Amino acid sequence: MNCIFCNIINRNSNAEILFEDDDIISFLDIRPVNFGHTLVIPKTHYENFLAVPDDILAKLIKTTKLLSVAIVKSLTPDGFNVITNNGTAAGQSVFHFHFHIIPSYDEDDFKFKLNLKNYLDSSMREYADKIRSEVNS
Ligand SMILES: [Zn+2]
Repeated sequence: MNCIFCNIINRNSNAEILFEDDDIISFLDIRPVNFGHTLVIPKTHYENFLAVPDDILAKLIKTTKLLSVAIVKSLTPDGFNVITNNGTAAGQSVFHFHFHIIPSYDEDDFKFKLNLKNYLDSSMREYADKIRSEVNS
């Protein structure tokens, strides 16, 4: 398996590393949406959000907050996004789980252009029922 993130962890590829401990590493995205775009990843290779064990996920989100605070203080963006893409349909391109922290600015060209839908008739209840049936299963 040739994973560009594992190569960074193993120091076979260079990266601007911002944080590292036994389980987590964070570095600048080499192709940023905005400058300062940061990735936070587990050192163990997990394909996506669902594959990451809960204890590592807790450490990941705490580290993502730590890095978000640092980005807000150091770069003073107008806002920032924390996102994770899971699956090709959702835009995942590296199949080693990662959180993105993307600083945003009022005047930049990075905006979510959402085409919001309306539920028809009882379909909102039907979607909720489907999801609820799995929540506690
Ligand atoms: Zn990997």
